[in-house]
Amino acid sequence: MSDTPTTPPWRLSTQLVRAGRAPDKHQGGVNPPVQRFSTVLKPTVEELYADHGRTYGLDGSDVHAAVLNAQRAIEGGDGGVLVPSGLAACTVALISATAAGGDVLCTDSVYGPTRRFLDHVLARYGVATRYFDPGLSGEALAALIAPNTQALMLESPGSLTFEMQDVPALTAAAKARGVTVILDNTWSAGLHFKPFAHGVDLSVQALTKYQGGHADALLGAVLAGTPAWTEKLQKLVKQLGIGPGAPEDAALVLRGMRTMTLRMKAQAEASLQIAAWLQARPEVAAVLHPALPDAPGHDLWRRDFTGACGVFAIVLNAVSRARVTAMMESYRLFAMGFSWGGYESLAIPCDQQTTRTAGSWKDKGPLIRYSIGLEDPADLIADLEQGFAVLKG
Ligand SMILES: *Cc1c(COP(=O)(O)O)cnc(C)c1O
Repeated sequence: MSDTPTTPPWRLSTQLVRAGRAPDKHQGGVNPPVQRFSTVLKPTVEELYADHGRTYGLDGSDVHAAVLNAQRAIEGGDGGVLVPSGLAACTVALISATAAGGDVLCTDSVYGPTRRFLDHVLARYGVATRYFDPGLSGEALAALIAPNTQALMLESPGSLTFEMQDVPALTAAAKARGVTVILDNTWSAGLHFKPFAHGVDLSVQALTKYQGGHADALLGAVLAGTPAWTEKLQKLVKQLGIGPGAPEDAALVLRGMRTMTLRMKAQAEASLQIAAWLQARPEVAAVLHPALPDAPGHDLWRRDFTGACGVFAIVLNAVSRARVTAMMESYRLFAMGFSWGGYESLAIPCDQQTTRTAGSWKDKGPLIRYSIGLEDPADLIADLEQGFAVLKG
């Protein structure tokens, strides 16, 4: 399915500019076209029933292949599948690694909708989930692994609370017992944490976030470390009838990927400037941004990551919910809404959606998540400052 090679000697930003370009196939057009089809026509009976290559719309089009190639250039691995959303990537990865009677060990800091899928869907098919504290050591994980444990679900840093996990140690403990390791690698976008170099089997990516980058498309990917896993994923999405999403969305995501290294660098830098400013504020009890020196998890982040994104949270000192609501609704630049990684800054109060059943995260105070966009950081800081004035009342 692939056309333009995305292999070294090119460096990553060059590969992201080149991925999927085949102008000779498209009358010189620099970008792959958006192709709309369900039926794929074949000239011979033999080709009609061949079990390789593109035979139906569910197999995707050139622009889908380009996005998958570009993400593989970023994350490494053997291959994988595109699916219509990041959440579908989480659910497909979990289905691929489990069977009835099995057991999943999942970080307590996992993306909320993934937790909902485990508790309300996989549970109905005889797969139970146990949640563990994200700070768990490799040895402690080994003690939790049961004979029927099939999958370890990691996310580092975790959603909303941004705890770092010791992914290499947890992965080593799981692999020693034949447990499949799935990592939701969305925070790093795959740019700043290399899952397969750390032994992960399946890496899940919400391409909706930094790859898309403009809050106008949904897409997900599951990448696999080995050809056997790639084949298993490709078969599974066909069996489930899950295609690679709309070609228009893939085209938007591919366009986003051309500039994502620049956007992510700018947004990470701005987020660190803003996080440091927040750290000095009397209203703030904690800043949860692992790339910030002194923040929780910074040592693990420095050891394992090569960079950050612009998404983090803060915990406020004790204050009424009504004051927090007034502050949130007073922001002029930080809009309230789900998702992140777009060009626009977002903020949500999120302690109401932290569901934790294991370990160390206690209701520590109002939790606010910020996604820093491409506005001037000085304007964002001014917005936060007027928000704190409203918080005080
Ligand atoms: C947003 C997100 C997803 C889901 O992505 P969608 O494309 O919105 O479905 C999965 N995991 C994490 C960590 C996310 O932040």
